[in-house]
Amino acid sequence: MRIGVLGLQGDFREHLEMLRALGVDARDVRTKEQLHEVEGLIIPGGESTTMAYLLEKMGLLSILRERGAQGFPIYGTCAGMILLARELNDSYPENRLALMDISVKRNAYGRQRDSFEADLHIKDIGEFHAVFIRAPKIVGVGPSVEILAEHDGAPVLVRQKHLLASSFHPELTGDPRVHKYFLEMVTRG
Ligand code: GLN
Repeated sequence: MRIGVLGLQGDFREHLEMLRALGVDARDVRTKEQLHEVEGLIIPGGESTTMAYLLEKMGLLSILRERGAQGFPIYGTCAGMILLARELNDSYPENRLALMDISVKRNAYGRQRDSFEADLHIKDIGEFHAVFIRAPKIVGVGPSVEILAEHDGAPVLVRQKHLLASSFHPELTGDPRVHKYFLEMVTRG
């Protein structure tokens, strides 16, 4: 299976490593051509405004938005989730993919808790130790969105058909089960 990780900014290397450890042909995606070669895409954590700017600059934003609307599997972690959200509490990033029916608040976990760890229970996966880094909070979900895990009453892992998003960073804890879950989505639809 050939999976891409958006390599414009953020912690894409960690995602690539995790996918490779799972035996996947993982590719760094920075151009339209590279995007066409993969069966699914992970958008990493990082700085969503910078990533959105670079996506547009590389001519990837509209193509990815189009493909995502047509069933191309995408998994957004943290900043990646911000780019997938239809609704945002912030005016930036203005230009997003806006593919998922979720409402997201950037940097919403408060100053002292800029970064924290938590044990989650994920549907179909089980107990999962999660790392949150200046995480966005999901404050609303539409009817077509399935909540797979919650923390403190807020959804932190959600799925909408072929789209997956998490407020946390599963690429940082060495536990590959969320990545495996995404690979299943790519294979089985
Ligand atoms: N705070 C970042 C943003 O708003 C996201 C943080 C992350 O991806 N770890 O873009």
